[in-house]
Amino acid sequence: MAEVELAHVSKWFADGQVAVDDVSLRVADGELLILVGPSGCGKSTTLNMIAGLEDISDGELRIGGRVVNGLGPAERDVAMVFQSYALYPHMTVRRNIGFPLSLAKVPRARIEQRVREVAELLDLTPWLDRKPGMLSGGQRQRVAMGRAIVRSPAVFLMDEPLSNLDATLRVATRTQVARLQRRLGTTMVYVTHDQVEAMTLGDRVAVLRAGRVQQVAAPVELYERPVNLFVAGFIGSPAMNFLPASVEGDVLRSPLGAVALDDRLRRALSAGAARPAAVDVGGEGAVGSAPPAAGAGGASLVLGIRPEHFEDVAVVGADRPGGRVSVVAEVVESVGSDKYVYAALPVGSGQAAGLARVLREAGAALVPGVGEQVVARLAAASTAVRG
Ligand code: ATP
Repeated sequence: MAEVELAHVSKWFADGQVAVDDVSLRVADGELLILVGPSGCGKSTTLNMIAGLEDISDGELRIGGRVVNGLGPAERDVAMVFQSYALYPHMTVRRNIGFPLSLAKVPRARIEQRVREVAELLDLTPWLDRKPGMLSGGQRQRVAMGRAIVRSPAVFLMDEPLSNLDATLRVATRTQVARLQRRLGTTMVYVTHDQVEAMTLGDRVAVLRAGRVQQVAAPVELYERPVNLFVAGFIGSPAMNFLPASVEGDVLRSPLGAVALDDRLRRALSAGAARPAAVDVGGEGAVGSAPPAAGAGGASLVLGIRPEHFEDVAVVGADRPGGRVSVVAEVVESVGSDKYVYAALPVGSGQAAGLARVLREAGAALVPGVGEQVVARLAAASTAVRG
């Protein structure tokens, strides 16, 4: 069993900088857990502590049930892959991959056999006799992974291993990483700042901010039920729209209109005070929130509206039903079958104007020009968010 467990782990540096603040996480045996968050949130420091490359200031780290706080990297049975690959330039691919086994004085024939197996797994067989300088970025990255895999460690640790690859290669290699991890069944902790990578790769994703875990959940849950505004805004691309709203008596008011509070919506809102829940307002508008004071009169909320919650997007004058939301397109992006319209959503009086936000239309029906007026309808479901 190679479960990884952090119990109230903190890290502060000599200058007083708290990089990781009371983090508790459990990575199950065979699980792929992603650590994601903006630059400086403590992802690499957390990974380095698991690897044994940084001391732990407080808390306990267990790997396979054993407390490893005091153990060096070599005693932890973990292998790490870095962004920079850290390959030996003067060694062939074969020797680079086999290096950890040579260090461990594994017999030569066994090393050769293992290197062949790993090269096969990573499509590296044709390049075994090349040196890293003669390989593409993607191939180098796979050699670095091969070196990690070769001694069958209990845990893989990956620190932004794809960041040096171009966009297309990143997508292809990300799929390879996921397949590899599933085939090998090895516990993996994978650090990235890219939320798309996090959402597509992981069994579960831990979102970090300023050294603290915000939420740990399966990708779909992070997307549909973020626990706070930070997670709601960080996960999803293009990002969620936020609009001010308030509960006034039996009505939820926002710049996009008022929605009657039925029992279901009321329950969701009051549940949201403890833990936000998805809110479905039955086609009346995409509304979600967790009020500071649950459902209280005049309580101010934040509505979270994902781009796809706008439906029936149409250019004014086109032969399509109109809707409640009417905006002027400022930027129009075409991403394959999706069109993104960036526009200023109407905000309430007294609010800062010019909230540039997004509508999305799946399919090819809408291609508005910049400056054209666009109308849309809000779909039934949205996401609950809390400040
Ligand atoms: P990035 O995505 O930019 O790599 P990260 O989330 O991995 O960021 P860390 O590298 O873990 O963040 O850094 C977390 C915080 O700790 C940052 O504020 C950083 O400046 C600080 N930090 C990291 N290493 C040290 C160090 N050796 N001494 C002092 N502060 C440090």
